[in-house]
Amino acid sequence: MSSLCCTSCGGLLVPKTTPYGKWMACPEGHIQKELNQEQNILVMKNQQPGKKIEVMDSKNLLAVHDHICKKCGHDKAELIEISCSYSDEDNVYRMKCGECGLVEQLEGKVK
Ligand SMILES: [Zn+2]
Ligand SMILES: [Zn+2]
Repeated sequence: MSSLCCTSCGGLLVPKTTPYGKWMACPEGHIQKELNQEQNILVMKNQQPGKKIEVMDSKNLLAVHDHICKKCGHDKAELIEISCSYSDEDNVYRMKCGECGLVEQLEGKVK
């Protein structure tokens, strides 16, 4: 069979465009049960799996040290690295801005 006929009246089906897709439908409006079911399966298959929406907290919870960022002026930074220098008094450490992420290397004692 090359052409589809209405299961109710036997008339030739015509292409019909609906919000759910395009399929053959009876011009008289008879519901083509089998065809509609097929179409529903296709619609189901074409649906994209829901994308996971992850809400990230943009605040850096580790940024608790007092340090004013040179770039954005934010007054809290994360202490990310300490390395002892040759003298026992001064340390080299790095602060990462809790706002813009700028890393600054500093010398001296960690507050
Ligand atoms: Zn019909
Ligand atoms: Zn900053």
